[in-house]
Amino acid sequence: MRLRSHLLLSAALGFTLYPRQPGQVLLVVAAGTLVDVDHLILYGLRSGDWSIVGAWRYDCYRHGLIPPGDHRPRYGSLRSWLHQPLLTLPLLGLLVRRWPGLRPVAYGVALHLLLDQGWWSSAT
Ligand SMILES: [Zn+2]
Repeated sequence: MRLRSHLLLSAALGFTLYPRQPGQVLLVVAAGTLVDVDHLILYGLRSGDWSIVGAWRYDCYRHGLIPPGDHRPRYGSLRSWLHQPLLTLPLLGLLVRRWPGLRPVAYGVALHLLLDQGWWSSAT
């Protein structure tokens, strides 16, 4: 899922859950979008290129077919453990139990992971 979609849907969830608490909305939106920072970090570690533009260019060509003669590097999956729902969601549950103030962060991350799964696109 694209950054814009994560941003808009996280904002919708935040405003729905916390209509009169802008700080909580901001936490939902930040958590719902910033989970993807792991892609940038893994890209930087594997490529040595820490520029946003380089990461964006890589993202544009990495999903497409590899035409003959294209020897641009591929760095494999750029998803860290943060994108593993079976690991991340129980950990978030434990953290929220200990620190209830993290609930908006947990909602944002959970929404992000749900959207990344893409279950709705195959249902229709
Ligand atoms: Zn993601």
